[in-house]
Amino acid sequence: MALDIGVDIGGTNIKLGLVDAQGRVVARGRLKTEARKGPRQALERVAAGVARLRKKHVVRSVGVGIAGLVDHEHGIVRLPPNLPGWHGTGVKEILEELTGLDVHVTNDVNAVCLGEWLFGAGRGCDDLFCLTLGTGVGGAAIVNGRLALGANGAAGELGHTVIFGNGLPCRCGGRGCLERYVGAKYIVRRARARVKAEVKRMTSHRDQMPLFKGGIVEKPSVLAMLPARRLDPETIGRAARDGDRLALELVQETGDFLGLGLVNVVALFDPARIIIGGGIAGLGEPLLKAARRTVLRRGQLFDGRKLEIVPAALGNDAGIAGASRLGRLPAPA
Ligand SMILES: [Zn+2]
Repeated sequence: MALDIGVDIGGTNIKLGLVDAQGRVVARGRLKTEARKGPRQALERVAAGVARLRKKHVVRSVGVGIAGLVDHEHGIVRLPPNLPGWHGTGVKEILEELTGLDVHVTNDVNAVCLGEWLFGAGRGCDDLFCLTLGTGVGGAAIVNGRLALGANGAAGELGHTVIFGNGLPCRCGGRGCLERYVGAKYIVRRARARVKAEVKRMTSHRDQMPLFKGGIVEKPSVLAMLPARRLDPETIGRAARDGDRLALELVQETGDFLGLGLVNVVALFDPARIIIGGGIAGLGEPLLKAARRTVLRRGQLFDGRKLEIVPAALGNDAGIAGASRLGRLPAPA
């Protein structure tokens, strides 16, 4: 049976996978994007990678997920945040010319959303929202069993929805955006500030210790013992799972912010399921618990309302698996 190829084009790496009808990646390839050298050289290497994957299998189509706003009809990417010089690239046209195959292009988060919907945490649910939490915060929606694209292919971009009207300044030029509170580097920045305050507090506490002979010495957070460069979301998540108080506070606070973003998602899309993926989702159950609590408190919930908030299931393969199905989706109505 014919298989399809999914391609995930990121700012640093390009991942390719030969995907079967059950969403399993049966063979894969990996390339450096070398984005600054321009799109042509990268797409030529993608075409070579496609040719390698086709050697032993019949391939029907190629689907590409790429960060940026994507014109789905023409397969053109616009304003890609981490591919300088790629604005306006006709990815579909170039790859079709180089491979001779049918090529479809979508936004990278749309690809992840399709993957989770068809093969992962979203199976069997035709109204869902998929959120990816990493350096950036992305979103995509399945509405009535179809990927919601919007008039410009830009629907679901949740990162720059506002959760605090007069909040912290964001890289987009706005203020109080969700990404500014739950994006990876901002979590780390907040962690650093907290650790600094904690160290200061404990140091002054220790100075007073002779006055409290026999008093209980508070155990410092493991985060305070790390060199600043080791303070990343992964470490914070691990410390939280081990019960570290400061790490738990940070994760819960991030979950509260995330919950505010989800209250907006619930109001806009009324999904039956919200799927949380990406690196920050590795903060795990304490993050989801805090997010659920905020949605419960702030969302318009009622007995029997269909809504669950669950972790993504496919990990790094979601984008490849989802992109591979683009050529097999029903045409937009
Ligand atoms: Zn913003």
